[in-house]
Amino acid sequence: MKRAGSRGVSIARGAPDFDATLLGTSFNAQDPGRRPDLIVQANDTHEVIAAVNRARAEGLTIGICSGGHSWAQNHIRDGGMLLDLSRLNSIAINEANGTATIGPGCLAGELNAALAKRQLFFPVAHAYTVGMGGFLLQGGFGWNSRADGLACQSVIGIDVVLADGTLVHASEQENPELLWAARGAGPGFFGAVVRFHLKVHPRPRFVGLKLQVFRMRHLEEVMAWADNAGPGVSPSVEFQLVFNRRAAGIFSHGIEVLGPVLAESWSDAREAVAFIDNSPLRKKASLTLPLIPMSLGLMMKTGEKTLFLPNTRWTADSMWMNDPIDPLLPALRKIADSQPAAPSHALWLNWNAPPSRPDMAFSLEARTYLALYGGLRGMAASPADENWATDHMRALQAHSIGIQLADENLGRRPMPFMAPANLARLDALRANYDPESRFNPYMGRAS
Ligand SMILES: Cc1cc2nc3c(=O)[nH]c(=O)nc-3n(C[C@H](O)[C@H](O)[C@H](O)COP(=O)(O)OP(=O)(O)OC[C@H]3O[C@@H](n4cnc5c(N)ncnc54)[C@H](O)[C@@H]3O)c2cc1C
Repeated sequence: MKRAGSRGVSIARGAPDFDATLLGTSFNAQDPGRRPDLIVQANDTHEVIAAVNRARAEGLTIGICSGGHSWAQNHIRDGGMLLDLSRLNSIAINEANGTATIGPGCLAGELNAALAKRQLFFPVAHAYTVGMGGFLLQGGFGWNSRADGLACQSVIGIDVVLADGTLVHASEQENPELLWAARGAGPGFFGAVVRFHLKVHPRPRFVGLKLQVFRMRHLEEVMAWADNAGPGVSPSVEFQLVFNRRAAGIFSHGIEVLGPVLAESWSDAREAVAFIDNSPLRKKASLTLPLIPMSLGLMMKTGEKTLFLPNTRWTADSMWMNDPIDPLLPALRKIADSQPAAPSHALWLNWNAPPSRPDMAFSLEARTYLALYGGLRGMAASPADENWATDHMRALQAHSIGIQLADENLGRRPMPFMAPANLARLDALRANYDPESRFNPYMGRAS
């Protein structure tokens, strides 16, 4: 991705480097076929304001990208302006009052590294190169989010350029409805956020990973065990199962049981992941590693080298579920049987959301989360592989209460992503702050 510190430039459709610049904004190597009329690369807030005013004067809609990690490439639309904010990537940490102010183009790994130097922490995204802009707006399932809350809960303020070109600050005290919307509206937010003000947390003293691997023939019993164990698992553990055709240690089709843990001590962490060692299935595992101490930075980079490869054509889709596991097992077996080669993978996450959250746009979650990441590396792929994520989620739809915006696929499979009352409130705010629909709405929705 191009992140040079040059002056902001405008590149019109038809210019020789237009397509390369456009597609270079996206982590997903898919060419969606959509083309805006103009790309504006902004270097600072003044250039963002100028771009929004220009869009208004020329009657252009605006799509925004920060880190460009939207699986669905939400920022690439037909017509209008693409406003690239990746160069607004500053990080300023105020240790004395436990806050940080960052630009939307700051990367998860960069913020984590800067905070680590001061023994501070923020629930950043799991992969190093995810942009904080899109991540924070959609909710933010970050490291330790089961304990520290969704990342957007630690957003205490934003500076945002609105559709009329004004720059406003929003916090709990000032324009609180804009902060409410920024905590969860994700790719449907109706302004360009140029700065996020964050509350930062003390850094957990121990970070480590517990890993166990099963061959795929054990799928039904592993899923049933995990689903049963899930509600009792400490919030300090991100208990996940990953279906992988090149599973760690066995290098063939298997289920990786992953237990990243962030705790105050090694012994707390060992106790928190003991349920994996003590599982009745342990003897059937092909591999069980002891708890391995590991830096968060290394875990983030390893994820990108194994599961989330760049230069890959991705289709992701997701669903929240409260249903018991038994009726889902035949569908999970079909997902495994038809799984394309790595890096395609399925993620089952034990979420078990807390009973309540602050009032904010983010408002839909459930007991378990299932996401499919279809990642194709060659240009030729069978229709079944191309559609693996979308088709299997469609088949399971009746069991789901909706999707998570982090892994949205709304252009192909529009599904609920917010509680109805919150969506109605968000729509009313959008109509008020962006009456001409300057900023692109969610894909799959007219406005
Ligand atoms: C490899 C990988 C790992 C991921 N890991 C996680 C994870 O651990 N947890 C998690 O919750 N999600 C995760 N995601 C999902 C990711 O958080 C979302 O795709 C998020 O939108 C990415 O932010 P971005 O700035 O990089 O994306 P972008 O594609 O730049 O932004 C996505 C959308 O958000 C809006 N937007 C972005 N910036 C702004 C802004 N400054 N002002 C207004 N609107 C804006 C735009 O509508 C834009 O199209 C991951 C994605 C990938 C590809």
